[in-house]
Amino acid sequence: MARIELNDVSKSYGAVEVLRGINLNIADSEFIVLVGPSGCGKSTLLRMIAGLEPITRGDFLIDGRRMNDVRPRDRDIAMVFQSYALYPHMDVGRNMGFSMEIRKDPAEKRKSKVAEAARTLGLSNLTERLPKALSGGQRQRVAMGRAIIRDPRAFLFDEPLSNLDAALRVEMRLEIARLHQRLGATMIYVTHDQVEALTLADRIVVLNGGDIQQVGSPLDLYERPANKFVAQFIGSPTMNVIAVEGGETGVTTRNGTTIALPHLPDTGHAAELGIRPEHLDVVDAGQGDITAVADVVEHLGSDTNIYVNVEGIGPLMVRKHGNVPARSGDRLSLRVQPEHAHLFAADGTALRPAS
Ligand code: ADP
Ligand code: MG
Repeated sequence: MARIELNDVSKSYGAVEVLRGINLNIADSEFIVLVGPSGCGKSTLLRMIAGLEPITRGDFLIDGRRMNDVRPRDRDIAMVFQSYALYPHMDVGRNMGFSMEIRKDPAEKRKSKVAEAARTLGLSNLTERLPKALSGGQRQRVAMGRAIIRDPRAFLFDEPLSNLDAALRVEMRLEIARLHQRLGATMIYVTHDQVEALTLADRIVVLNGGDIQQVGSPLDLYERPANKFVAQFIGSPTMNVIAVEGGETGVTTRNGTTIALPHLPDTGHAAELGIRPEHLDVVDAGQGDITAVADVVEHLGSDTNIYVNVEGIGPLMVRKHGNVPARSGDRLSLRVQPEHAHLFAADGTALRPAS
């Protein structure tokens, strides 16, 4: 398998730099997820690793060997796309084994590899079908089978599940997690879906506008986002962020409410307070930090989502486990769980708790 290094890798299209000085060390067998909004450079980075796109500047190494100028097929990397890209006139078995056919591997070997991959992916009964007679999920499995058969040193996935419906996406996500456990291969997985990122990744790389914002484990990013962008990109529902003025041992909101955050250093430099919907408590009248009026209440059974408005602050979202008997129009007292508060400086940088 493979250790992958990106040293100061940049990409320009003409005068436009779409990736800037990317530095990343990926360990052997690691599952790395690249996330970020559309257009931030995720696919471009994968395509450079696969060799489908030249690297403008910097070095790309596999197991210590520079690969910038190695031909795609000699990189020993398999890529799975969102669009499956199956050959319509070939049946499932031939689609999966086609790379071995091109390499002129013996037919017997090819047959046994195809059978093995089909078994792994639950496609054994479908090897003689044409792609047009398959569901979206089955086509995506064939595309994965085609990658597995090559025994690559690394797998690259570019939003492989985006074309599937929600239920199938969850199922395929689990399958990819199992595949990684079974093969122990290095995987780089691109998605704009932060739930996929949080559930699959050993480490997540958050990209925005061609720059790495943060690299860390899912919990690292959730608990200690480096800046407001990461804080709001990771975690669902999205973190609430409100403008505040920093004080000595806490912050003051625009409507004059003071929230004590004695354990946080540097409160004086705070420009914004971040608090996740699950870290706001609904407490008895007068006991909370913020008085809010419930706008919309969603009873999901397992959770209650409460969208509130706070005069002088704006809309916030609260999420609580179980059923909270709140109704639209109710006045609610909300308490900020101080140990889960995040503070951001004016430039969006997180002000860290002393640890
Ligand atoms: P993502 O996959 O994160 O949505 P991409 O890597 O596809 O983003 O694209 C990153 C940026 O590079 C975008 O602004 C896109 O318009 C630009 N880009 C991608 N491919 C080309 C190309 N062949 N020529 C010019 N610009 C491109
Ligand atoms: Mg893309």
